[in-house]
Amino acid sequence: MVAKNGKLVWRMPQYESFVIGGFTFVIILVSGISWYGYTHLTTLSRQVAELDTKFDTRLASTTTLLQGNIAEATTSLGDALQQEKKNIQEQLGGVKSQVGSITGTITDLQKLSKIDPELLTKYSKVFFLSDTYAPARLVDIPPAYVYRETRSLQIIPEVLPYLQRMLDQAKADGIELYVDSAYRSFASQKSLKGQYTVTYGAGTANQFSAEQGYSEHQLGTTVDLITTGTGGELAGFDTKPAYAWVTANAHRYGFVLSYPKNNGYYIFEPWHWRFVGVKLATDLHVSNAYFHTFDQRIIDTYLISLFD
Ligand SMILES: [Zn+2]
Repeated sequence: MVAKNGKLVWRMPQYESFVIGGFTFVIILVSGISWYGYTHLTTLSRQVAELDTKFDTRLASTTTLLQGNIAEATTSLGDALQQEKKNIQEQLGGVKSQVGSITGTITDLQKLSKIDPELLTKYSKVFFLSDTYAPARLVDIPPAYVYRETRSLQIIPEVLPYLQRMLDQAKADGIELYVDSAYRSFASQKSLKGQYTVTYGAGTANQFSAEQGYSEHQLGTTVDLITTGTGGELAGFDTKPAYAWVTANAHRYGFVLSYPKNNGYYIFEPWHWRFVGVKLATDLHVSNAYFHTFDQRIIDTYLISLFD
């Protein structure tokens, strides 16, 4: 403090002023630095925030894009795999079907090779079975099915079960139905015709009995059926319930009437039934047709199913 014109005047000492000046400077400097730092920091923060946002946006859009691409790639890969799988399956299917078809053809051929085509051939006075023909195998018909039980009658083994089933069913239905004649060799046919000739005279014999070698009995698939009440004769069979039964049911067991009324071959032989297979017999029955008036080419298509 100093006096000036009688008044006391406060005067800052030199060093105080320096300190204050320095202090002020420091404050200003610090403030400046702080301000600068603050603004710079704010800017940086904003930039970081902006970058962050940009990055997030970019990342999001890139992720979406990538996800889209992956989904697309997955879909197209999936599609391609599906298509490939389908192609392979189709090819396999084709191969399988070809194998199946070839196997089927081979099976059919093997099956056909075991069936004697003579068994579905029509024989007549102009087209006849060789005199040397004989079935590959023959079996005895059990005596219970034979009218004259002491007679030994034979048939081919493939047909026997059908015959037995037919006669069993007839019996179950209360019908008396037996076999009177079955396989006949060419020689026995010749001898039988001799007997007929002696009994009825040549003209009647030719009409009555199938000519030697023409006979379906030589095939081993044909039977003459007989019932009770005819005095042991075949004649009169058509007047008995057995004939009505066999006419209505024989096709179910593969048998057909060879010589119906007014046929162009022989006289009406109601007792004479030939095995032609269930399928053909049924088709003939349903269409009211006869084996001997059916086209041989159509008949041949049934050979494969002869014993089905
Ligand atoms: Zn006969």
